[in-house]
Amino acid sequence: IKPVHIIGAGMAGSEAAWQCVRRGVPVILHEMRPVRMTDAHNTDGFAELVCSNSFRSDDKHGNAVGVLHEEMRKSDSLIMGMADMTKLPAGGALAVDRDAFSDAVSMILRQHPLVTVEYGEVKGLPPKAWGNTIIATGPLTAPSLAGAILKETGEDSLAFFDAIAPIVYKDSIDFDKAWMQSRYDKKGPGGDGADYINCPLDETQYLRFIDALVESDKTEFKDFEKDTPYFESCLPIEVMAARGAETLRWGPMKPVGLTNPHNPTVKAHAIVQLRQDNALGTLYNMVGFQTKMKYGAQAEIFKQIPGLEKARFARLGGIHRNTFINSPKLLNKQLQLKSRPDLRFAGQIMGVEGYIESAGLGLITGRMAAAQALGESYPVPPLTTAMGSLVEHVTGGFMSGPKATFQPMNVNFGLFPPVEGEIKYPKVNGKRLRGKDKTRYRKGLLAKRALVDIEDWTKAL
Ligand code: FAD
Repeated sequence: IKPVHIIGAGMAGSEAAWQCVRRGVPVILHEMRPVRMTDAHNTDGFAELVCSNSFRSDDKHGNAVGVLHEEMRKSDSLIMGMADMTKLPAGGALAVDRDAFSDAVSMILRQHPLVTVEYGEVKGLPPKAWGNTIIATGPLTAPSLAGAILKETGEDSLAFFDAIAPIVYKDSIDFDKAWMQSRYDKKGPGGDGADYINCPLDETQYLRFIDALVESDKTEFKDFEKDTPYFESCLPIEVMAARGAETLRWGPMKPVGLTNPHNPTVKAHAIVQLRQDNALGTLYNMVGFQTKMKYGAQAEIFKQIPGLEKARFARLGGIHRNTFINSPKLLNKQLQLKSRPDLRFAGQIMGVEGYIESAGLGLITGRMAAAQALGESYPVPPLTTAMGSLVEHVTGGFMSGPKATFQPMNVNFGLFPPVEGEIKYPKVNGKRLRGKDKTRYRKGLLAKRALVDIEDWTKAL
């Protein structure tokens, strides 16, 4: 069997490689690190998590991300398998020890008899002689390859920012002011409902903090970045602060579901949460605090937060560029480049956002490439599933009208077709479900349908 070439051993490339070798198809995995690093990666490990250590919600009954996790578990995913093996307490979220996770993925692939790893940057488009190839080079694709893709497709790549949240040493946090508690005391697997560190601010402290953010010294935009829209779910905090004093209180600093044991009768005006970042529990990241402030400004301003006055930072926040192709225009339903069907894409470069979404598309693309190598075909999962809806998103199924623009997206229930027929909402204590309860019930139905459909689809294959 001819090998599948995979460029990039990140979230998508690692998953794609696994899906190929599990089908007996050999893989040549090209990874440029450590020969050449990106602006965000720090190691030579496969599937390195460059920012948060969270795969977000693991709720398979009512959250689209949790559904995607579960679909991937049912589809023999390497990324989910290793995430489950290295998970840390994080309430209802799935967070992992980033080093242990990356080590596990790297070890499994590097020692697999059907995997050959070739280190070095792939400069330019892969030669046609390679045949069946997957490009999974991610948001920080090396410019040599990005430029070649541009030349081949004639399309302008789009770009936007994500930003890195700072990481703090736990032993530098003042627990006379901070305390451990998960919002609404939510217990994750193995957790005790006290997974997060919370730092409270009163109104005066909060308003002073907002002013400092707005006036802070920020990293300059480069010319080509000036017109770039931020990705709404990953806005830097200073951009949120500039939108209005209340914005952060309704976002990452919301003071709900938490009680300060040092001062239980007084409600905090705003709260900063920190989430465990390594297995040892020595590092905590500031949840939702991605930023493009300069390092000096960050250290000074974050020390205004009660409990963080003496904080030591293992890593400060940063900004980066994201590169993705106009997939709906360029790819067919088998995720091949229309102008060069020997090339498939996988992961964030296709226009999804997030570790698990990238790995999910790596899973599908990997299976498609493996099927091709075996002279078979591999159908796209049903649209009613999280994986199927992501494929639909990147192949333009949700776009309508000639002026519709393609934007990267996290998985969400908005991508799932509505449940057919009129939903018969149950009554609770004789009353009809309303508002959030109704929404939760509807999401539950979408989640249930997705998991039934993925199971049927997997069995049918
Ligand atoms: P990657 O995981 O980046 O893998 C791509 C691989 O390709 C890398 O190993 C790279 O070295 C290699 N490569 C690139 N070019 C070449 C070449 N020419 N030749 C050979 N190898 C090459 N997602 C979240 O869910 N949560 C977050 O908190 C989060 N924060 C982020 C912060 C930053 C700074 C960035 C850049 C992204 C962030 N993302 C986050 C998005 C996250 O990176 C992606 O979702 C995910 O890692 C993408 O997976 P991927 O496999 O497509 O790319």
